[in-house]
Amino acid sequence: MRRTTLLGGLATAALLAAAGSLPTTASAAPVSGDAFTRAVAQLKAHSGSALVADGQTFTLKNVSTDADGTEHVRLNRYQDGLPVLGGDTVVHLGKGNTWKGASQSLAAAPTRGAKARVSAAAADRAALATSTAATRRVDGSQLVYDADATGTALAYEVVVGGAYADGTPSELHVLVDATTGTVRDSWEGVQRDGTGNTFHSGSVAVGTTLSGGTYQLNDGARGGHKTYDLNGGTSGTGTLVTNASNVFGDGTLANRQTTAADAAYGAAETWDYYKSTFGRNGIRNDGVAAYSRVHYSTNYVNAFWSDSCFCMTYGDGDASQGWTPLTSLDVAGHEMSHGVTSNTAGLRYSGESGGLNEATSDIFGTLVEFYAANSNDPGDYLIGEELRTNGVPLRYMDKPSKDGSSADCWSRRVGSLDVHYSSGVANHFFYLLAVGSGSSSYGNSPTCNGSTVTGIGNAKAGAIWYRALTTYMTSRTDYAGARTATLSAAADLYGAGSVEYNTVAAAWSAVSVN
Ligand SMILES: [Zn+2]
Repeated sequence: MRRTTLLGGLATAALLAAAGSLPTTASAAPVSGDAFTRAVAQLKAHSGSALVADGQTFTLKNVSTDADGTEHVRLNRYQDGLPVLGGDTVVHLGKGNTWKGASQSLAAAPTRGAKARVSAAAADRAALATSTAATRRVDGSQLVYDADATGTALAYEVVVGGAYADGTPSELHVLVDATTGTVRDSWEGVQRDGTGNTFHSGSVAVGTTLSGGTYQLNDGARGGHKTYDLNGGTSGTGTLVTNASNVFGDGTLANRQTTAADAAYGAAETWDYYKSTFGRNGIRNDGVAAYSRVHYSTNYVNAFWSDSCFCMTYGDGDASQGWTPLTSLDVAGHEMSHGVTSNTAGLRYSGESGGLNEATSDIFGTLVEFYAANSNDPGDYLIGEELRTNGVPLRYMDKPSKDGSSADCWSRRVGSLDVHYSSGVANHFFYLLAVGSGSSSYGNSPTCNGSTVTGIGNAKAGAIWYRALTTYMTSRTDYAGARTATLSAAADLYGAGSVEYNTVAAAWSAVSVN
């Protein structure tokens, strides 16, 4: 029988254990239930309290709320008075505290652990022995349950303090199995983002890894994305970008790590955009990062994505022709999105499907730029506006024909254009869907049929395109098929006949796709 109580004012699980309120048998993780739901609702209102259910104890970590009022209540878990690492849970509540499910990484609750045979002092020594930082000290240890895919074990979590050789502080957490004395896991508690002094985006944080006393442009928090310097070469991976300090580039092109910082930053923002917006875990949605290569060839005025190497490559541009390196944020988002397309719809890179492939990259490159909210490169519906010293962009989404070559409206000849020009029809569609027709701070967008379109915003327009790309489009989708796919996506997300659905239809008609 489920037993759910709310205990007020208890700060620690140790106090709960001392109070003798915990049953001795382990039990399953929380599931749907009115009593548990009510208790979670009470816990939100008394954040210093603890909730006890089926012998497990939960405390409130935080609450996030969606626009529609759905709440995501994040809980820490304890058993037998000990923290359960990996047992954290998110309870999803609808309006009026109604149960909408729970998310948790722990398959089963921990069993009451075996008796520890290793003393805390021995665990501390084991942890220190694995430490690699320049200076180390044991700051403390605590008995915990460590839960992972293989089960649950009693372990000492030992915090080893110190500093790296360059002065960066360290709080290394080492989990030592309490029964066997082996190290189960370790992680650095101090976030060691490096600094990237980029050319296009100012001074930004970049993910780095300290290895053998040297910092690598290797972003462990985002699938291990690495940035390489090809040093003018056109094949292989060149040299992994490393530095003695955790600072890459100086904002000028005299320092060859400056563009490497741009590439690393663009990859990180793109990774974060897809993950936080769509829950997509990397280009293939498998948690594995691509890699980036900079300084490709000589005076190379382009950037490209390759499925075969699963990598992005950037040229330095040609200063004598007014080009800077092609490592701007929207270009990074554009290139990585080609990888997303390859791993979803697989739009063939010719004819109308090729134009849709290019437009998908322009759309998500633009949305990455908005997502980054970097004042050095603010969000806009221009593609590559940072690349030329005269500020002229490569492409315009409000009225694509402003580049002199792209199509604003669909016609039978669109499929015979270069894919970077046939993309204009879909870029124009997306601008109308997100922003609307006519004049705005972002541009001035005409319609091909004289209609007026009121935009639904980037978030909804992006969600519709992403769902269409990942759910309905296939390798040979053409413009007529894109209309059908986005209408299906809008119906899924917002309902057939909704404002969003009707705006998708109106925006396609406004670019002559009926
Ligand atoms: Zn492209």
